[in-house]
Amino acid sequence: VPVAREASTDAASARRGPLAALADAGLEVPVLGGGTVRHVNLDVAASAPALDAVAAHVARVLPYYASVHRGSGYPSQATTALVEDARATVARHVGARDDDLVVFTRNTTDALNLLASAVPGETVVLDLEHHANLLPWHDRRVVVGEGTISATLAALDDELGSRPAALLSVTGASNVTGEVLPVGELARLAHAHGARLAVDAAQLLPHRRVDLAASGIDYLAFSGHKAYAPFGAGALVGRADWLDAAPPHLAGGGAVESVRVDAVDWKQGADRHEAGTPNVLGIAALARALVELERLGDGPRREHEAALTARLHHGLASIPGVRVIRGFSDADDRLGIATVELERGSVGLVAAALAAEHGISVRAGRFCAHPFFDRVATRANGLRASLGAGSSADDVDRFLASLARLVADGP
Ligand code: PLP
Repeated sequence: VPVAREASTDAASARRGPLAALADAGLEVPVLGGGTVRHVNLDVAASAPALDAVAAHVARVLPYYASVHRGSGYPSQATTALVEDARATVARHVGARDDDLVVFTRNTTDALNLLASAVPGETVVLDLEHHANLLPWHDRRVVVGEGTISATLAALDDELGSRPAALLSVTGASNVTGEVLPVGELARLAHAHGARLAVDAAQLLPHRRVDLAASGIDYLAFSGHKAYAPFGAGALVGRADWLDAAPPHLAGGGAVESVRVDAVDWKQGADRHEAGTPNVLGIAALARALVELERLGDGPRREHEAALTARLHHGLASIPGVRVIRGFSDADDRLGIATVELERGSVGLVAAALAAEHGISVRAGRFCAHPFFDRVATRANGLRASLGAGSSADDVDRFLASLARLVADGP
């Protein structure tokens, strides 16, 4: 594996996106034929690079962290405060209600698996879900999306009206098309049928502000590593009653009031599901990333990403033999994601050539959303480019030019 190296700071700062200082800005990667080029990261929807401020926060915590909750020493007390402050930050950032729980998990997948063990009934989902919001639900009823959001809401209405369900669980934005779903309307629809709404916000939360209290969302799941924090921590936020009645997500120390040889008295609240030593650094990073995203401003980030997204889609539309995949013809909001299929050639080879010849990272495949991809695509696999706060017009232009050349030449 070739080793990437850092470019000079000047070159790095000249080319990074104007809105976010990222730990990977200015990364130079080797290309075939020798030499290096500035890395273009268009795989942000898979994992976003850490913000500089987040990396610096983790470095500050590293020298003193200790095990939480039980230690009497200063580092343990400080680390406990760090984790509990992070919990309060997450709750504030997502507009949690006073009695909602914030449970720290490994990621979105973990959070949705936890919720699945707590749902007292059947769950309705859409076929456009990432597998993380499809496979955990034991009693799932899958509604096939229609060509428009309005028709899809009507199909959900019919399904929820046909037979009671405990939960409607829907993604906030498709990880294949970037199309944003109307979570407030979905909450009203679920509640009208006596169900609750869970939102898989793995893609949505890093790019759009989510407010549980204002939108009526009952449960929210997300991952730190897609929100400009390093790997390892995510969260489930939402109504306490189901979570307090559910079996503990992990059985072990910290989740119990008392244990006798023949009986266990499990705690209620977030502790019930967080047995074992938590990922303190991941949790601290996740909370710091949310604070930094607030500082960068929702409006400016949205404007910056919208301009780049329009540039990306406009450019893709002008490349012969490339078709952008869409789920809905009436989606009026879209994250910086575009998945294309190619008339000729292999997207896998094109993605490999983009990396090896041009230093551009994208992703090829079906993006852990097989039922959706198979419904809307005409080919076996697609190629996805995804951008974020640190992306620049130069990133998009280099991708478009390289893709056009590879498609024209045949990889
Ligand atoms: N949901 C969506 C919409 C995603 O895009 C992803 C990851 O790509 C996930 C869930 C799973 O996230 P994680 O792997 O962090 O659990």
